[in-house]
Amino acid sequence: MSEKPKMQSLSEALSKMLKDIPDPTFVEWVSLDAAFERILAEDVISPLAIPTVNNSAMDGYAIRFADVSENNLFKIVGQSLAGHPFLAAAEEGSCIRVTTGALVPDDFDTVVMQEDVTILNQQEGQLICLQNRPKAGQHVRLCGSEIEHGQTVLKQGDRLGPLQLGLLATLGVANVAVYKQLRVGVLSSGDELKQPGEQLTLGELYDSNRVVIKAVLMRLGYQVIDYGWVADDPVKLRQLFDKASSEVDALITSGGVSVGDADHTRAVLESIGQMHFWQVAIKPGKPFAFGVLGNCLFFGLPGNPVSAVITLEQLVLAGLAKRAGQSKASFVASQHKVIPASAKQPFRKKMGRLDFQRISVNVTVDGVTAEPVGLDSSGMLTSLLNADGWTWLEQDRGNINTDDPIHIQLKSSWLI
Ligand code: AMP
Ligand code: MG
Repeated sequence: MSEKPKMQSLSEALSKMLKDIPDPTFVEWVSLDAAFERILAEDVISPLAIPTVNNSAMDGYAIRFADVSENNLFKIVGQSLAGHPFLAAAEEGSCIRVTTGALVPDDFDTVVMQEDVTILNQQEGQLICLQNRPKAGQHVRLCGSEIEHGQTVLKQGDRLGPLQLGLLATLGVANVAVYKQLRVGVLSSGDELKQPGEQLTLGELYDSNRVVIKAVLMRLGYQVIDYGWVADDPVKLRQLFDKASSEVDALITSGGVSVGDADHTRAVLESIGQMHFWQVAIKPGKPFAFGVLGNCLFFGLPGNPVSAVITLEQLVLAGLAKRAGQSKASFVASQHKVIPASAKQPFRKKMGRLDFQRISVNVTVDGVTAEPVGLDSSGMLTSLLNADGWTWLEQDRGNINTDDPIHIQLKSSWLI
């Protein structure tokens, strides 16, 4: 008897998928206001040094360190306020009043805090007397100490989140080159599905996958095209796949991708496009399909709500990121890391598939522990809702005993 071929692992599936997905080509320039969640198409080189000038980190007085002597007296000859710099040259033994962020003129190199001086009113004007000996250069933020002029601050393929946008604003960059926003279609399939607001008949259930998938995609800045719901009918599926292939960059379906009599997704995909692979050794989410409909990527997710989310999270988002132009480094940085923990309770597991069991996580000074959330079927969306994350129990492991070392992944920010 011939041996059953080994199912591909998650990492094999991912690398196959990423190899097959082309990089984007269309680039447009957008203003910062329109750049949130877009992917940079060019490196950003700093047009400025940051800080742009030497400036004070404290409210106090700028002095020349070389003038510090026994008597510690400095004559106040002017002031430099944020937005109102002092531009005159310094005389020996002089100081100027400075506020936080104000320019420290080139002649001065050290700032003493106002709390550390005594003010003396004398006939020739005000003097300060230092209470302690300062350190040379203290409380001065040097020009270019954070970012140098000409430094690469963001890379092609970086996603523009709140902090990246803040950095661009810091540098006075008003427009950036970004890749085209991906258009992603979402479609649910299954004769048993009804939409919220409709009346259920016996054995039917509401379509929740599409709502979840759309919300995640919107959070990630994709343009979502909603193809609604379709019955388990190959003719109708084909019509919709055809339509989507000419309208969107990627189509995500859920349901109908397994081996049941009503599962037509794969056959239709193969008849009008290509299926690049089907099935991944993960639990839940095994019957995941990836392919293309012309230039449109195709991701077929299993219908069970947890399986749909896990395959979306572990496979589809990486594929979309690649198509959108996001670099691997930027994508990985946005995902929650797989981290070590110990099992607070036993986990039942069969060898052969990477297992994502929903867990609650406890973090203490002694380390991280994880335990199953209890009700944990792949049909139960609440198992994900009530979980802090999921296990990352390697494909070749069996049952896990209490206190065994395991790996876990906390829920990504786009699911919370
Ligand atoms: P399937 O992958 O089509 O075999 O579906 C597996 C299970 O997921 C079935 O119990 C379906 O009723 C359920 N299911 C399929 N699509 C959805 C959906 N859009 N929302 C919620 N549950 C679904
Ligand atoms: Mg079905």
